[in-house]
Amino acid sequence: MRKIALMGAVVVTLATGAETLNPLDMRWTFGAHEPITMYRRKAARTTGGIEGSSKWVAGWLDWFDTESPKLMKDLGLNWCHCRFYKGMGWEFEKNDYPNVKRFVDAAHANGVHVLAYIQFMTLYYENMMAEIPNLRDWAARDQEGKMIYYWGNSYYRWVPCISCDEWVDYLVPIMRFAVTEGGFDGVMFDNSFSHHCYCERCQRKFREHLARLPNARERFGFDDLRFVLLPPESAINSSEVKDALVQECIFWRHRQMNEIFAKFRREIKKARPDAILSCNSQGARNPSAMRTLCVNVPDLIQNLDLYIAQNGDYPNYDVAKDQLRGRARILKIYRTLGKTAVALCDNDSSMTPDQERHYLLPLMEDLVLGGIPTDRTVVSPGKDSFYDEARVEQRRPQLKAFNAFVADHRAMLESAPYEPVKLLFSPQSTILSDRCHRGLGVAEEICLRRHVPFGYIVSRPDELNIPADAEVVVVSDQTCLSEHQRERLVAWAKGGGKLIVTGDSGRCDELNRQYMKNPFKAQLAGIPNVVWRDEADEFSGVFSTGWVNRISAPKDGGDRLVADLEKIGFKTPYELKGVPAWVMAEVRRTGNGYAINLVNYCPSRPMKGVKVAASGRQVARTVPFGQDEAAPAIYQLFEVK
Ligand SMILES: [Zn+2]
Repeated sequence: MRKIALMGAVVVTLATGAETLNPLDMRWTFGAHEPITMYRRKAARTTGGIEGSSKWVAGWLDWFDTESPKLMKDLGLNWCHCRFYKGMGWEFEKNDYPNVKRFVDAAHANGVHVLAYIQFMTLYYENMMAEIPNLRDWAARDQEGKMIYYWGNSYYRWVPCISCDEWVDYLVPIMRFAVTEGGFDGVMFDNSFSHHCYCERCQRKFREHLARLPNARERFGFDDLRFVLLPPESAINSSEVKDALVQECIFWRHRQMNEIFAKFRREIKKARPDAILSCNSQGARNPSAMRTLCVNVPDLIQNLDLYIAQNGDYPNYDVAKDQLRGRARILKIYRTLGKTAVALCDNDSSMTPDQERHYLLPLMEDLVLGGIPTDRTVVSPGKDSFYDEARVEQRRPQLKAFNAFVADHRAMLESAPYEPVKLLFSPQSTILSDRCHRGLGVAEEICLRRHVPFGYIVSRPDELNIPADAEVVVVSDQTCLSEHQRERLVAWAKGGGKLIVTGDSGRCDELNRQYMKNPFKAQLAGIPNVVWRDEADEFSGVFSTGWVNRISAPKDGGDRLVADLEKIGFKTPYELKGVPAWVMAEVRRTGNGYAINLVNYCPSRPMKGVKVAASGRQVARTVPFGQDEAAPAIYQLFEVK
């Protein structure tokens, strides 16, 4: 890797750097991010809808590197990530670099910004071993000491051990090269998580971590931790994590990942201050993944300029199951955390006829929630051509209309979200307790379906800041709360802040350790502006978050929480009438008024008879967007002045 460092750094200054990312100016698209070797080894239809073993892959890549940027420019698509380092060893992959460079140059010539794809979670040993003879030492091991394979089934991809400093240090010059001589606008680490590794190095480092902990006897019941072993994955992914050793294993893994990305951040900014650091990891509302995949998303993304949250949640409403699906939760959280996000929701190789019919729906969802509007399928191959001309021609006018809409409503879209109801989200609590995860989830679901304008307070056990625009704070069955968190909430209520607490919130501390009596309830007793309801809100059925969310309706439709909000004196300055549960209302402050963005997750049922009333104010409605034969109303805007 020294060779890279010696090549020297040609610093390129571009107009759009990390400091100026604005989703309204960004349109994300597919950039061929797999090298041909990956396609050949996969040998199946995969990334980008490419048939990996086919005779046309090389030709398609050649076409993509040269021609696709013109098509992107033509369609107004201006951001992507493209192949650079897949985990096969740089000595091997640099052979493809001239082609990659051709794409980057062509992209820049067409106003398209490109991030360098760097695979985080793979060692392709077949290629890499020639360069790194001791590669086995870099690989993660399961409890039996066997190699861990990528998602368990790619036999040619080892998962690296995140305790291996040599491996982390190997990636640094590759990353630096990408943003200097490589000319990329930044890098995107894909699959930025890891399976739990049980190698000797991890065992040793974990024990070193334990040795630094205070109060070992109180936590573990003993304090000589020299012979402790890493807990098995089955114990790590438990619904209520109360085993202190498992907790520490999870926290330690999160810290390892944070330190790796903090290092990447230091190194990339040293190489080029305006280079963008991004990664594709898990969703912030997926605690099971945060336990098993070694990553605390809200913490990790503090190191990043841009976050990629790939998921399977194409926005829609399942009528038969009464399930609302979309990316409102994660997009709102990333916005709260001040991070620009791409919530890649599509299968990158194809869309169903129904999804094609309502093509603009996910783009509108991105737009109103502050995400980067994304089309990852328009440049993918057709039946017998490198790209599907008919599909391009079908989408071209829709993209044009979308861009015109953004230009016409730019001021509104740049105005601040109206989120006076804040849901308390303590990532640590949701990681350690499925009950906390569910409590937050049901409050979100009620707010979405009942059109309560909500946002989040993202809190750590030692940090809870209630923002100035909060009118009501909702603590929905958050059984795990630290003393600090409780004190901040009590102080808010004592200062006149409206507080709704449900279930057994505060019954345990931040480590899920139970108190004899609920201390939070006692602290809040007698304070006006507090509603305490012992009965928690519940789902009527399934609540499962992950690659695809499966979330049923709240049991009572959310009546009790809505009644609590009324009881405590919360009222929106406008009234929505006839807005069904599957229509999302995302509201913004515009001067003294409000802009109510309605996004219809069930476009086969056009929004009819929807009304907005606001006493003493003027209500104007824009022409519904996307209302034509191909796409019945997916969106309406009401302006309250
Ligand atoms: Zn290890």
